[in-house]
Amino acid sequence: MRGFWRRLVAHYRGLGGHLRTAHRVARVTGSAGAFGVHTQRGTVTARRVVSALPAATTAALHPAVGRRLAPYLARDGDAHGGAVVVCLGVPESEVDGQGLTHHQILEDYGAPLGEGNNMFVSVSAPGDLDSAPAGHRAVMLSTHTELAAWEGLDDAAHDARAKWLGDRLVALARRAYPRLGERPVVYEVGTPRAYERFAFRPRGAVGGVRQTTRNANQHAVPHDVGVPGFWLVGDSTWPGLGTVACVLGSRIVAEKVA
Ligand SMILES: Cc1cc2nc3c(=O)[nH]c(=O)nc-3n(C[C@H](O)[C@H](O)[C@H](O)COP(=O)(O)OP(=O)(O)OC[C@H]3O[C@@H](n4cnc5c(N)ncnc54)[C@H](O)[C@@H]3O)c2cc1C
Repeated sequence: MRGFWRRLVAHYRGLGGHLRTAHRVARVTGSAGAFGVHTQRGTVTARRVVSALPAATTAALHPAVGRRLAPYLARDGDAHGGAVVVCLGVPESEVDGQGLTHHQILEDYGAPLGEGNNMFVSVSAPGDLDSAPAGHRAVMLSTHTELAAWEGLDDAAHDARAKWLGDRLVALARRAYPRLGERPVVYEVGTPRAYERFAFRPRGAVGGVRQTTRNANQHAVPHDVGVPGFWLVGDSTWPGLGTVACVLGSRIVAEKVA
């Protein structure tokens, strides 16, 4: 992802775009033609705003947008889920000798999904030096998790649960890579707490709402909630979860704005 973003940002800047990192938006004021986007590092004025933040975050930034989003947020309040990810940097010998770099594992067909029972293994490609230095590979293990299982835990209980689930994911991934994680250079476990702290996802939820016929497609959060000049994109809007879906939604909005 690091290499992907480096290239994407270079291209965006080449087109004349300005990227300002570490400018957390606190509120958006004004209306079409004269919005003010206020951050702790100053205000940007804009004729139009496209918010790529989670809908719940956007709702708190601009009162009129918040009022339009309120029915969707109330409806979807209990439709959020989380993820746990193990980020590994390992010697190449722990993953070599395998043609495939991506695997999905379902441990027990009879058990509920999540908490490691279903998981995704993603290994950086041989020679991908954007992801790991020579002689090493980056490995991501991820699974779904219930947010409620992490809420209200003190630090010790949180860390114990993170260790339990991290170890479980590594053990399950050894079905594909028997020596995985024997001598890791990097071994970090990200939980909903990490997504909340570092990616500002409300409650640490990821992936948008769990879709049902009640909240998907024509019932999804639209890109245009009826506040002129203000648009929403990202995985809490139609069509929903995933990088491809987010790019599709953004392309639709870009075409409408243009
Ligand atoms: C473990 C895991 C595995 C996944 N695997 C896949 C996969 O294999 N394929 C796939 O297609 N999708 C996958 N997804 C889903 C996909 O990553 C997400 O749906 C997608 O990244 C969401 O993009 P987004 O731009 O809507 O939100 P985000 O990626 O959360 O981006 C929102 C951005 O807004 C910023 N932000 C938040 N609040 C503010 C604020 N107040 N001011 C300024 N900036 C702010 C955040 O810092 C963040 O950069 C996975 C997700 C997880 C968690």
